[in-house]
Formats: sequence, structure tokens, C-alpha cells
Amino acid sequence: MDEFRAEVAAWLRENRPPEPDFLMPESFMEVGTDAQFNYLRDWQRRVFEAGYLGMTWPKEYGGGGQPQVMQDIVNIEMARQNVPFMPNTIGLNWAGPLILAIGTEAEKQKYIRGILSAEDIWCQGFSEPDNGSDLAAASTRAVRDGDEYVLNGSKIWTSLGTYAKYMILLARTNPDAASRYAGLSYFLAPMDVAGVEVQPIRKITGEYGFTQTFFRDARVPVDCLMGKEGEGWKIAMQTLTFERGASGGQAGGLSMVAVSAADVVELARSAMRDGRPAIEDPLIRDQLIGFLVEEQGDRLCGARARIPALCSERPGAIPMSGKLRGTEFRRRLCQFAISLQGANGARWVGDAHAYADGLWQRSYFNAFSATIGGGTSQVQANIVGERVLGLPKD
Ligand SMILES: Cc1cc2nc3c(=O)[nH]c(=O)nc-3n(C[C@H](O)[C@H](O)[C@H](O)COP(=O)(O)OP(=O)(O)OC[C@H]3O[C@@H](n4cnc5c(N)ncnc54)[C@H](O)[C@@H]3O)c2cc1C
Repeated sequence: MDEFRAEVAAWLRENRPPEPDFLMPESFMEVGTDAQFNYLRDWQRRVFEAGYLGMTWPKEYGGGGQPQVMQDIVNIEMARQNVPFMPNTIGLNWAGPLILAIGTEAEKQKYIRGILSAEDIWCQGFSEPDNGSDLAAASTRAVRDGDEYVLNGSKIWTSLGTYAKYMILLARTNPDAASRYAGLSYFLAPMDVAGVEVQPIRKITGEYGFTQTFFRDARVPVDCLMGKEGEGWKIAMQTLTFERGASGGQAGGLSMVAVSAADVVELARSAMRDGRPAIEDPLIRDQLIGFLVEEQGDRLCGARARIPALCSERPGAIPMSGKLRGTEFRRRLCQFAISLQGANGARWVGDAHAYADGLWQRSYFNAFSATIGGGTSQVQANIVGERVLGLPKD
């Protein structure tokens, strides 16, 4: 293992792309320019070609067929060296594992390799302008017409919508079904057909990264339907277990720029409070220790979750709370980093007097993204309350 770790570390050192001359997005949710996209896509392709992505996925579809521990080593080395993230996050982390878990042989042959190589970028069409948390209310229609489905309606907050070739799409095939769940179907839908239009949406940071997606009589072949008509809800729920990290099987690689408590300790050394470095203030030291302990606790929880005997009392507790804990931690950490800067906390990216070029300010705003995307913190808290703690629904 040590030998492999050394080999990976050396490869990453030698092959990491040069620093770009543009502002790097912090995650796949902020990839908004062609320069950013091409840079990241090229990086993912090279990591894949080196054999360091999808290492546990079956060989016959382009994966490595190796044990998880190998991919773990790569992921840890990537984080340690702070290399760029993989842009095809939706493909690598939820569409791909889903297709491998329940897809047909033809679907696996058609989609998996392109996901790994970043040739085929994937996006997710779940949320609609009027239906986000209440996913079962999705009203985008898919009507069968011979060998095709005709799509009409609109999805919103489609991350990577601008660059995606395929969408995992939840649409209503039967508005008269016995329940609203039974009327939904799931599609692996091409984006490059007539009648699909994407409109980029600008974020509070000024960045782009998601779109509103319109379907106007867009026709897709019937074999885009995953599973059977009416199985959309079940498949969407399974997708969310991959998205929220409750099920394993992700292809690996980093999916966002890491910000850690150690970075905030460094900031506290240089940020000044009453003429002295902030780190000399005992109250600040106390809070820093709190963040460091929480971060380490979270890391150890991740390791613990892999040992069933240590989680037998509440097996779902760690995986089901992971998204809530991780995303809220990042948001609070960024908020604290800004508070350390005093009045300078109001400076923005590009301001010559901003700490670290305003990185923390941008990270703070972007940190909200992950507390909302994939299910808001309130919805995640409900899930933990009901399914882990057994609390009543109301
Ligand atoms: C950066 C970003 C990227 C995204 N990318 C995608 C994407 O690629 N594809 C996609 O389909 N969607 C995407 N989304 C959309 C995201 O999944 C939804 O925004 C989210 O599910 C919430 O839905 P909503 O915005 O309609 O808010 P609403 O559902 O209207 O919620 C509004 C508020 O009410 C609260 N609330 C709602 N229901 C409950 C409840 N039952 N109990 C307690 N509180 C509740 C929510 O927590 C929230 O605070 C993205 C969002 C963001 C911010």
C-alpha cells in the first residue's frame, strides 16, 4: 500500500495542471465559463486515463475492478495535494453508481465510460420552479408517442446544465395514477435534442453554474426510460442515497475545493484583533479548537461508518446525517473565518486589501449551495429525526 501511495503522490505532483489564469470554481456547482470547464474536464480525463478514477467500477465498462481501499488512497492523496476537483460530479457520484446498481447491460455499456472520461457530462433534472423539496409534485410531462417520449415543462437549478450531454430526469408520465408517486418515471435523457433550452442563472457571488432548463416538445427515444413507467419515484430515492452519501459506490476524485479548520487557524495567525494576531485571543482559540475537534470527529465518523460492528445500534445514523453535518460545518467555518477579519470581512474577491483575495467571502456564500442542493438542511434534519431517531412525522 505504501508503494502505491508513493506512486500516486508522485503522479499527482508531476501531472497536476498549472495554476489557471482564471478564478477556479469551488465546486461543480460553480463551473460557469468555457475556460473553467475545459481546464477541469481535461484534468478529469487525465486522472481517468492514469487509472485513478472509477478504480472500483467494473473493468468491462472502463473502471479499474480494484478494491475500495485503492481509490481511498488516491482520494486522500488528492486532498493532501489540493489538486483540482472532477467536474462530472453528478455522473461520477450519483448517475454512474445508479446505472451500475440498477441499469441494464446496454445502459452500462453506453454511459459508464463517458462518465469516467468526462466526455459525457451529466446533470440532474429533479427540481422545478414550483417543486423543490416536494419532489413528488414534479409536473414536467413525458408523453409516449410511438418510439419516443415528448417532454414538456421546466426544471431549475440544473447544475452543469450548460455543459451536460445527459440529464437524469424525473418526469410525470401518468397524471391520473393512483398516487402522485406512481405517476412518475425516470429518464436518462439526452440534452442535445431539439426543444431543450438552457438559460444560465447568476448567483450571489456573480458566478454561474446552474441553469433553468426548458422542454418544449422535446423528443427522446423510448429507450431513455430507466426501469419501467411509474418507477420514477423509487429510482429517484435511490439516486438521492448516492447523492447524499448514504450509499457507497462513487467513482472517487475530489468534488470540491476543500476548506479546512487548519486553513482558519492559519488565517487567525495573520488576521489582527486589537493590534494582535487573532489567534492570541483566548476566546478565538477556544472556537478554533471547537472546529478542529468537530472536523476530526467527522473524519473519524466516516471511518467508523465502514465498520458495521461499531454502528450496529443505529446503522443509518452516520450516513444519513453526513450531508447535514458536512455542509453546515463548512458554512459555519466560513462564517467564522470572515468574522476573524473584522471590518476587512466586508471586502470582496479582487480587492487588494482582502485576506486571501476574498476567498473566504466567496466560500461563505457558496457554502450555502450545498446546504440546499440535494435536499435542504431542514429536510435532512427531518430525515435524521424520523428515520434515525424514530421521531414522529409531525
Ligand atoms: C447551488 C445549487 C445547486 C442545485 N443543483 C440542482 C441540480 O443540479 N438539480 C436539481 O434538480 N436541483 C438542484 N438544486 C435545487 C435544490 O435541490 C432545491 O433548491 C432544494 O431541494 C430545495 O427546493 P426549493 O428550492 O424548491 O425550496 P423549497 O422546497 O421551496 O423550500 C423552501 C424552504 O422551506 C423548507 N422546507 C421545505 N419543505 C420542508 C419540510 N418538509 N420540512 C421543513 N422545512 C421544509 C426548506 O428547507 C427551505 O428552507 C440546486 C440548488 C442549489 C442551491
